[in-house]
Amino acid sequence: MSEASKVEKVIIVGSGPAGWTAAIYAARADLNPLVFAGRPKRDPETIMPGGQLMLTTDVENYPGFPEGITGPAMMSRFEQQGVRFGTRIVTDDGFNPDVSNPDDGHSYSYHDCRRVDLSQRPFVVYGEDDTEYRTHALIIATGATANWLGLENEGRLARSGGGVSACAVCDGALPTFRNKELAVVGGGDSAVEEASYLTKFASKVYMIHRRDELRASKIMAQRAMDNPKMEILWNKIVIDVLGDDMISGVKLKDTKTGDESTLPLGGLFLGIGHTPATAFLEGQLELDEKGYIKLKDPYRAHTSVEGVFGAGDCVDKVYRQAITAAGMGCKAAIDAEHWLSEKGLA
Ligand SMILES: Cc1cc2nc3c(=O)[nH]c(=O)nc-3n(C[C@H](O)[C@H](O)[C@H](O)COP(=O)(O)OP(=O)(O)OC[C@H]3O[C@@H](n4cnc5c(N)ncnc54)[C@H](O)[C@@H]3O)c2cc1C
Repeated sequence: MSEASKVEKVIIVGSGPAGWTAAIYAARADLNPLVFAGRPKRDPETIMPGGQLMLTTDVENYPGFPEGITGPAMMSRFEQQGVRFGTRIVTDDGFNPDVSNPDDGHSYSYHDCRRVDLSQRPFVVYGEDDTEYRTHALIIATGATANWLGLENEGRLARSGGGVSACAVCDGALPTFRNKELAVVGGGDSAVEEASYLTKFASKVYMIHRRDELRASKIMAQRAMDNPKMEILWNKIVIDVLGDDMISGVKLKDTKTGDESTLPLGGLFLGIGHTPATAFLEGQLELDEKGYIKLKDPYRAHTSVEGVFGAGDCVDKVYRQAITAAGMGCKAAIDAEHWLSEKGLA
């Protein structure tokens, strides 16, 4: 029997804080988990093993790191902790990569889960080249990618800590954004929330919105318009992000007149939503209208299909933090372990 045709106790799809935490708990519960960590993708360029934190430099709000830690270093530690207790990872070279050196580029041979068949038991999980894996329990922790404008300089400055971010709660308090003029792109509730949050630290916050009214609810829109530190730039889109190592401003285009202008800035935040990485699950388990996985009970990790558990940002459209994703990964592994035990499969 080949490795891939064995029946696994639990397969985990995703390698961000939720996936690795689920792996740590499942491995320590002797479930010998198998992880699909995902291949990096350039389109959108923001999907990669290690998840969304691979896109950020300093993580200052994760407990246990009083001096802060970079996102990639933190995710490497999560991964090493999972592997230490027996987690296996599907790679080009088999199931047991050497993750002891975080800089050796090992993550680039990790595999995607392409689709699943939850109508059969054990479930069938399809890897790359349609390789079939069978598992009694399945944990989905595929995250949600922040939506970006797709501009070259935006991606470059986001990855290098150059003052471009898609998470105000995560990055707004960093010294680099203090007392600067910042901008948030977007016009929905979450863009208004991000912009209001940033006014605590910034000298001024612009909202750059492509239309002539906000999509945000009335109360949120009024809050934005009443805030003396906020100014809404109507009918504008960002066509370029300026700056070499650090953002210096953005180039704007007026959607009505076509006029172009430059806005000097010390930071740019994207508030144009998130896309849960759940397309590969469609038709297999219940998702909401935006594609987030629906849980049967908000305090647990059970999904609409018995034996399938959801964790992290692919479930959570409210908090979207590493600590909450990790907490959900822990819950998913514990729920999976209990479920497997009840069924006599652990
Ligand atoms: C710029 C930025 C800065 C941030 N800074 C902070 C911060 O300072 N502090 C904080 O707490 N939070 C921060 N966040 C938020 C935090 O990154 C997320 O809340 C957290 O990463 C969510 O974890 P997750 O495990 O649910 O998903 P993710 O981290 O998104 O991980 C999902 C994983 O699933 C994999 N995957 C997806 N589809 C498949 C598939 N089909 N097969 C296999 N694998 C797949 C992906 O490759 C990825 O590894 C930041 C986010 C951004 C965008």
